[in-house]
Amino acid sequence: ALIVRHRMQSSGKWAKAMAILDDFEDKCATPIGKLRQVADAMTVEMHAGLASEGGSKLKMLISYVDNLPTGDEDGLFYALDLGGTNFRVLRVLLGGKDKHVIKQEFDEVSIPPHLMVGNSAGLFDFIAEALKKFVATEGEGLHPFAGRQRELGFTFSFPVKQSSIASGSLIKWTKGFSIEDAVGEDVVGELTKAMERVGVDLRVAALVNDTIGTLAGGRYNNPDVVAAVILGTGTNAAYVERAQAIPKWHGVLPKSGEMVINMEWGNFRSSHLPLTEYDHELDLESLNPGEQIFEKIISGMYLGDIVRRVLLKMAEEAEFFGDTVPPKLRIPFILRTPDMSAMHQDTSSDLKVVGSKLKDILEIPNTSLKTRKIIVKLCDIVAVRGARLSAAGILGILKKLGRDVTREGDSEKQKSVVALDGGLFEHYTKFSKSMESTLKELLGEEVSEHIVIEQSNDGSGIGAALLAASHSQYLEEC
Ligand code: BGC
Ligand code: MG
Repeated sequence: ALIVRHRMQSSGKWAKAMAILDDFEDKCATPIGKLRQVADAMTVEMHAGLASEGGSKLKMLISYVDNLPTGDEDGLFYALDLGGTNFRVLRVLLGGKDKHVIKQEFDEVSIPPHLMVGNSAGLFDFIAEALKKFVATEGEGLHPFAGRQRELGFTFSFPVKQSSIASGSLIKWTKGFSIEDAVGEDVVGELTKAMERVGVDLRVAALVNDTIGTLAGGRYNNPDVVAAVILGTGTNAAYVERAQAIPKWHGVLPKSGEMVINMEWGNFRSSHLPLTEYDHELDLESLNPGEQIFEKIISGMYLGDIVRRVLLKMAEEAEFFGDTVPPKLRIPFILRTPDMSAMHQDTSSDLKVVGSKLKDILEIPNTSLKTRKIIVKLCDIVAVRGARLSAAGILGILKKLGRDVTREGDSEKQKSVVALDGGLFEHYTKFSKSMESTLKELLGEEVSEHIVIEQSNDGSGIGAALLAASHSQYLEEC
């Protein structure tokens, strides 16, 4: 058969493109009632995950942190923060009650992409080498600690089943990582072996998720911090639970009566989530199909790629960019969330940022203002869905804590503070504003006054150092 393709009529082209966009917008809708259902489902899954091992998509991992920093921590500690495209090494001199953080130094190293999908020794040797270089810069002048073995808080931002404060096996990789021989291994063992191989003597005193580090760092500065949320490359949350409310915990009840839980909320999933065909395709083609569904519609690693997928569909079926499909548009992850954010937040009257991003990244020159406006709209749909769903997640935690309502007798000043970290929250203002206003909308005016979102810039590194301090082998001597 002879197939004759006609150039679509201009008006037909716009109508078709708008139909694709409108349909996407409908499927992404997050009316307040839906958000309440998501929050309720989150609370239900939290209970299920605490009740039994494997009881829920939410792993509700026990962190072995039953005491958060008090301010008394002192000494010289290292921290290593691994979880995104960069890792950081830190050195922190803690001065106890009055002095707090006396001195803080850090170094940031980007991880060569091939090491994120290679083997365990390759990744950990690279990290150990960087640690070795950093330790060598310690210098003189810290003599009160001379002769002592240096201790490290290890922030490892992936799901780990811990067996103590300083050991735990990797459940699975997330984000852009996929190193098969590390799965199931004790990540502290892997790091320690690598440090022995390269010749650096550090003892890992605490192994923590970035949410736990952020919670610890947040609590150090503010006693009202009860939860921490990461909105960055990936997303997750941790909070302080009553030890009695964790049926799956069979150990001794901690003296504090509390236990910090790493929810791993990125793996949350519910029939109430507004998922579209683009999300299903992104998931299928990802490194971890079927996993981290909440993360895939909220976090920085994925938002830009959702936008790309919708644009590709508009190009293929509505000739949105002319009668050929721009080839770059077919490349997964070519449109990164920071670029999406720059387009979304373009305030120029002719949307020149949108124009230059399309030209530079996707090699689509000379876009009309009409085209650019539609793209801004698309970015808004994707960002707002993610932001509103993350607000619903936070509401789920507050419900679990009984802090989503004001109760008779609550002191006027009692605040619940949620420490928030991650580049998505920090740099994508339209996202953060939408998240915060949605949370207010969900909580109502009165309760909102008691809930504070506190931005914590890289609190997780300091937090890990603080937890290393409170689990130091030298503690008795102090
Ligand atoms: C990981 C979490 C981590 C979060 C934020 C997720 O992909 O599973 O452990 O806390 O990213 O870094
Ligand atoms: Mg981080």
